[in-house]
Amino acid sequence: MTPVVATAAPPRIPLSLHVAGHCQGLERFMFSGGAYAHVDIPSVFVLLNHPVHGYCLYDTGYSQENKRQTEAWPGWVYGAIVPITIKEGHSAREQLQKQGVSPADIKYILISHFHGDHIGGLKDFPNAKFVYFHDSLTRLETLAPIRQTLHAFLPGLLPADFKRRSIALDYPTAGSLSESGIGRTIVQTPEPFGPLGQACIDLFGDGSMLVVPLPGHCTGQLGLIVRNGLVTPLSSPAGSANPGDTGSAFMFVGDACWDSRTVQELALPHPLTFWVVHIDKPAYLQTIKNLHSVWKAGQGSIEIVPAHCRSMVRKWVKPEWNSKL
Ligand SMILES: [Zn+2]
Repeated sequence: MTPVVATAAPPRIPLSLHVAGHCQGLERFMFSGGAYAHVDIPSVFVLLNHPVHGYCLYDTGYSQENKRQTEAWPGWVYGAIVPITIKEGHSAREQLQKQGVSPADIKYILISHFHGDHIGGLKDFPNAKFVYFHDSLTRLETLAPIRQTLHAFLPGLLPADFKRRSIALDYPTAGSLSESGIGRTIVQTPEPFGPLGQACIDLFGDGSMLVVPLPGHCTGQLGLIVRNGLVTPLSSPAGSANPGDTGSAFMFVGDACWDSRTVQELALPHPLTFWVVHIDKPAYLQTIKNLHSVWKAGQGSIEIVPAHCRSMVRKWVKPEWNSKL
């Protein structure tokens, strides 16, 4: 399929960033220059309000379901390696409900990848369709249960009707393996995102939400570009921002890296986590270089947001964020 040029002026997408739970780890493990001290590592999810297609999430963070799924073998191995904290009221569902967004109103959940800290809340959204790169799941499904756990995948986090509600994307040829029209449009990747690949998937066909692969951390990781995003209070209806407000470009990158310093300064993770965690090391490094090129070309106008970056959380969620909040 020949990519077409993306729409010049995509619609504005109100969005908000949130934290649903955290784990703990050495800061130095996340990026060079980090301290050899334990820090709380937040799990970010994003609410987006598309003017036609309604509420979407990018990832869900943790929920109480993570606790349940790590109580028994083999899931407890995950809990032993990555101690999870998710307080009552802090799951994506509870946070959205508290601010007037019904879980039933979430239409799509874009899944960056299937690690437990990104898909903990999937069962909480009964009407959502699940959008992901199909190879991010097919490989994990073939593993034995203990190996799935060691790859941070807890299949019990998926709702029973997960497959029926799936829109599994294929990159870059078919666009979408589902019957749905969603994700079938391939467009030429607009500048300055070109380093991420010649083509990207225009999820809704209007240029507003573009999907690209971010290989390396795991198979089939999905990154989301929002070219005209506007951070608003959580429950603002689409298009409700002041007419004078100008949107800006956001890119949500899951675990392509763990801290924005990796994108901005090429501050790589500790060699131990680099070698143990990421499935394809050369691809991981290339993805970081690509993101760095995009960030540099954007000259500060593109916010590239890793899912566990504390400085992004302090900037966009709560200036004083720590795990107590
Ligand atoms: Zn991950």
